[in-house]
Amino acid sequence: MPVIDAHIHIQPFHMMKPDVQATFWQKKNRAEFEALAADPAKLLRQMDADGVERVGLINYVSPDVMGFTSEVNEWMMRYASADPARLIAFGSVHPGYTDDPGGETDRVIEMGARALKVHPPHQVFRANAYLNGLPGLAEVYRRAEAAGVPVTIHTGTSVFPGARSRFGDPMDVDDVAVDFPKLKILLAHGGRPLWMEAAFFVVRRHPNVFLEVSGIPPSKLLEYFPRLEELAHKTIWGTDWPSPGIKSMRVNVDQFLGLPLSDASKRRILYDNALTVF
Ligand SMILES: [Zn+2]
Repeated sequence: MPVIDAHIHIQPFHMMKPDVQATFWQKKNRAEFEALAADPAKLLRQMDADGVERVGLINYVSPDVMGFTSEVNEWMMRYASADPARLIAFGSVHPGYTDDPGGETDRVIEMGARALKVHPPHQVFRANAYLNGLPGLAEVYRRAEAAGVPVTIHTGTSVFPGARSRFGDPMDVDDVAVDFPKLKILLAHGGRPLWMEAAFFVVRRHPNVFLEVSGIPPSKLLEYFPRLEELAHKTIWGTDWPSPGIKSMRVNVDQFLGLPLSDASKRRILYDNALTVF
């Protein structure tokens, strides 16, 4: 079965703040991942070994919490240009750090971003903050909607120092889905581990919202979402590799394949839906 992993983290690790690095590199072979970040050919070989056709390369501007400035976009577009068919570059605009969020969004998309990432707990605003004092965020969504570029929004908690987990509530995305009805939205992590019911509601309620399951241990996926099969046409595979506890892209796929879901649903989730959305 072909696989698209819509959510992995091979990023400009050197930009991460020291306290973030300390958390990120815990129990990880740092040199191995720095080598992957230095050479996209290495990542492509790893994808071959893991049987993964394409990956979504998550990337976002978060100067306060993570240390990522807007330079992450140049870095990511350059990295993904090694094989744009297999490396899906995410871009990002932090509306609090630019005078022209709309123009900056257009620029990032022109540079080659095929999706955008919004990370409320790490960017320290709500996903619907354009309703309360951050009008530039509406411009980001509007330009992405006009360009047909999907937006992955982090939902759920985060353990990184300085992260504001209360901004991870998927109900904030309900507003975004209402106000930008043609914007394709991926709910990353399905609100894990606190807000799965809210995530399920938002995905079912809005034709333009998809469930993206990265960061959820596949063995727990049906515990978290007992009615997953009902949403198989709107669920997108991702691992969050190499975040804590995720050994490899392949291990998660194999665990997922062992779940009691129909083969048709598995194929949609692992491949078909992402192909349509991206
Ligand atoms: Zn992630």
